[in-house]
Amino acid sequence: MPTYARQPVTFTHGEGAWLFDAEGKRYLDAVSGVAVCSLGHAHPAVRKALCDQAGRLIHSSNLYRIALQEELAARLCRLSGMDNAFFCNSGAEANEAAIKIARRYGQHRGIAEPKIIVMEGSFHGRTLATLSATGNPKVQEGFAPLVGGFLRQPYGDFEALAAMDDPEVVAILVEPVQGEGGVRLPAPSYLGQLKALCEQRRWLLMLDEVQTGMGRSGRMFAHQHAGITPDVMSLAKALGNGVPIGACLARGIAAEMLTPGKHGSTFGGNPLACAAALAVIDTLELEALPERAAQLGCRLAEGFRTRLANLPGVRQVRGLGLLIGIELDRPCGEIVGIALEQGLLVNVTADKTVRLLPPLILTDAEADELIYRLGAIIEAYLSSAR
Ligand SMILES: *Cc1c(COP(=O)(O)O)cnc(C)c1O
Repeated sequence: MPTYARQPVTFTHGEGAWLFDAEGKRYLDAVSGVAVCSLGHAHPAVRKALCDQAGRLIHSSNLYRIALQEELAARLCRLSGMDNAFFCNSGAEANEAAIKIARRYGQHRGIAEPKIIVMEGSFHGRTLATLSATGNPKVQEGFAPLVGGFLRQPYGDFEALAAMDDPEVVAILVEPVQGEGGVRLPAPSYLGQLKALCEQRRWLLMLDEVQTGMGRSGRMFAHQHAGITPDVMSLAKALGNGVPIGACLARGIAAEMLTPGKHGSTFGGNPLACAAALAVIDTLELEALPERAAQLGCRLAEGFRTRLANLPGVRQVRGLGLLIGIELDRPCGEIVGIALEQGLLVNVTADKTVRLLPPLILTDAEADELIYRLGAIIEAYLSSAR
């Protein structure tokens, strides 16, 4: 179905931060399959884990115990301070699990029609519940009736939240950084304030770390920058480095809401996907990639600020780790095609923001090449479109 406005290129293989098309042309990849291939392409650890596991057992179903799933849950919980995990196959499904946890928590508190606070500019997925939670009218248009029970608030505005006094609210669902929404960062104090408010009001703090999780932000999870632990956290994108896997982690009372029969997934957490995710975590730790993402993020952000300084069309360079946005003063979707032509993969989101999501294994030289090449493209674009 024509659901995507695709670029006219297909890649045959990749290596590290590079992709190759059928003509042998190579592309520096600053998209990583939309924040998925954080270890780059054809990483030997992922390849080995997948090949070995495919030769042993790909799937057995959740009718039985799955040792690799239990191991992955334990690893993720140890890293995040959460108590347990539910596995699925995508970010939207991970958020569906979070939403179901919040609904059950509402019932548990005797609230018949519990409500979840969600943010303007947010993105939580394309299923009916998650597109209803999403704060972008374009995503919702034409899909009425939307799923109810979501209350929308301005992102990053703690005072507006604190002023709410709806007794049916049971949870907040929020991204630590809004990726699809244009790489929007709240004040550093925001998550801590949300955490305190949630404790005071007995709301669940549910963080959508589908894009920010697994090292991209410069910490394993973006909320660790704020020194807090959420009640619920959704993960997906980089968790399997390209093998579809999502996870919803929970702690405390939230971890007790989904009991036998209350949720499920045929493929969720199967041995193949879990083997990939375990290899991803091993590699993130072994190669200290979250720390590397923090370093590279500074190098890129500072490099772009210097390169683009004094260009009047550049509004702001911002980001957290390797989730970087360059906001221009005009729509800039055309930059994607111009860069592609020149062998460079970048993304544009929220109409005016060039979004960079390079792999965490990028070298310093590749980072500098990205600054040099994209800097020239943005400069030329701004002068031509003026
Ligand atoms: C990509 C994304 C999703 C949706 O994930 P899918 O795997 O496409 O369902 C949800 N939330 C955030 C923050 C995302 O970036």
